[in-house]
Amino acid sequence: MLHLILFGPPGSGKGTQAAKLVEKYNLAHISTGDLFRAEIQNKTPLGIKAMEFMSQGQLVPDQVTIEMLRNKVDSMTNVKGFIYDGFPRTTPQAQALDQMLKEKNESIAALIALHVDDDEIVRRILNRGLSSGRQDDSDESIIRNRMEEYRKKTSVVYDYYKAIHKSHTIDGFGSIDEIFENVTCLLDDIIVNL
Ligand code: ADP
Repeated sequence: MLHLILFGPPGSGKGTQAAKLVEKYNLAHISTGDLFRAEIQNKTPLGIKAMEFMSQGQLVPDQVTIEMLRNKVDSMTNVKGFIYDGFPRTTPQAQALDQMLKEKNESIAALIALHVDDDEIVRRILNRGLSSGRQDDSDESIIRNRMEEYRKKTSVVYDYYKAIHKSHTIDGFGSIDEIFENVTCLLDDIIVNL
């Protein structure tokens, strides 16, 4: 089973690329951001908790996030593999994911990072906020907080998988199709060598 992490700062295009990858490779897409937004919409206790952090541009605590991810993965049977989008975002999350996969005799095939610079990120997210209605996309100081969280807590996840030769970087500038072409080229290579 293929387990792929799509990685990068907020606004780097993970969700967009994940949707296209899901179609081409027939994988299940798990976005922790989407899962939290669904919980918020349904006003569940988990959603109410997550909302406190998301509205400030902070990460939701690991324990809550890991538990939600685990439940989601366990609920999906008969899939060829998973794309993790927005998870893991901290070292403890990466450790929990590895442990969970180990229990299933599985492991991460690769982490693919989309590289985009800060100014482009702010521009893209503010632009997305115009149509997404996401509160955390409409305020530049919240966006800057999210970028800070990424730098402080998330970027180390790249190094975590780099140490075991699983991290790869793709340029996140350019058209959606150009980026997709580069991602699929890399991914095909990874799959052949699994
Ligand atoms: P983006 O990648 O644009 O930041 P997401 O939808 O992935 O958007 O995430 C939105 C918010 O959801 C994050 O700012 C964070 O508060 C919360 N979140 C999503 N995934 C995680 C995670 N793995 N750990 C902690 N918080 C998360």
